[in-house]
Amino acid sequence: MIELIIHHIGELITPFHTPPVKGKFMREVKRVTDAFIAINDGLIVAIGSGDYQAYQDKNTVLYDASGALMVPGFIDGHTHLVFGGSREFEFADKVAGIPYLDILKRGGGIFATVKSTRQATMRELETKALKSLDIMLSFGVTTIEAKSGYGLDQKTEIRQLEVASAVNKIQPIDIISTYMGAHAIPKEYAHNRTLYIEEVIKIMKTIKASNLAVFADVFCEEGVFTPQETITILTAAKAIGLIPKVHADEIVSNGGAKIAVDLQAASADHLMAISTEDMVGLAQSNTIANLLPGTSFYLNKEYANARALLEVGAAVGVASDYNPGSSPSENFQLIMQLAANKLRMSPEEILNAVTINPAYQLHIADKVGSIAIGKQADLVLLDAKNLEYVMYHYGINHTKAVFKNGVLVYEAKHYNHGGII
Ligand SMILES: [Zn+2]
Repeated sequence: MIELIIHHIGELITPFHTPPVKGKFMREVKRVTDAFIAINDGLIVAIGSGDYQAYQDKNTVLYDASGALMVPGFIDGHTHLVFGGSREFEFADKVAGIPYLDILKRGGGIFATVKSTRQATMRELETKALKSLDIMLSFGVTTIEAKSGYGLDQKTEIRQLEVASAVNKIQPIDIISTYMGAHAIPKEYAHNRTLYIEEVIKIMKTIKASNLAVFADVFCEEGVFTPQETITILTAAKAIGLIPKVHADEIVSNGGAKIAVDLQAASADHLMAISTEDMVGLAQSNTIANLLPGTSFYLNKEYANARALLEVGAAVGVASDYNPGSSPSENFQLIMQLAANKLRMSPEEILNAVTINPAYQLHIADKVGSIAIGKQADLVLLDAKNLEYVMYHYGINHTKAVFKNGVLVYEAKHYNHGGII
């Protein structure tokens, strides 16, 4: 039995290499023109070209893609989905060029969001997260990673993760959680860092016991957590059963990526200041080099050297870093366009970086991240003839339709004019 056939797909483009897809292999994708895809029970059962009738039975629903481009659902491997409030009051300081770490020292930055997140009710946090998820879905995102880290105390960190878990159940996007108590040292522990690190590890055990997170992340940066503190926290995380991730070499090159490699972390994220030596180390590992061009754009900072990372053979991911301070946008296609224009990645490299590599990073590549028989039918139809057009016509939403587990969960209202532009 076939529940759904999506046919008349202008071109279907998907990664096909076994992840992590590294360096020059990221330029390679599989293409099927005039494609169709047959789906049953939420899974892809056939992919073909042209005539699909052999797969059709009397109960099969047909969906005419009208020549649209099909790619796998996008996977955003780095977001800070759940938080209270917003930070537009910092915008003028940011534009004036006041460094982020100075804003942090003044009690702004993360601490402003910590305050509003602690004050927010579960309901308020859920409502805000659901709104963001709706926008993400409209841009073709079908799976995200979501970090805590705006509570910095047990009660609020757990509340953030509970909100992620609650909203995961009531909308289409799959959410995979990361505990990030080590996002900043809270003010109340400013004079006793060691005690806070002990607290972070204690909270980690509670979170693991209640199955609220899969990963643990540390902001390894000058003025935040030192390399040694990062090692202490993530070694404990591994022992507890949480998989490490690192906010690494964002502002200062301090060996964060090397720590990620040494601890076999799922990803090392940001990497604007990574040393050449640490790039080589990353390339020799299975840790994803997760680049976040939205943050560079919003903070008017330099971009990570994606070309050098690809040249040495690293497995690159691209993610939004959606958060209230340094990347307040859920427009994932804009992030991809920044990867094209600012990281100078090719459309094929970007496709690998927003589908199969983040799926690998999140330990779900057996289910999602590419269009292949047996995988979940998490699919996006884009109103474009080719991937180049998606990168070129920037700032808009190209999504025509989104399918999650074979169910149509989003359809753009403004494509009633017929055909592909
Ligand atoms: Zn982040």
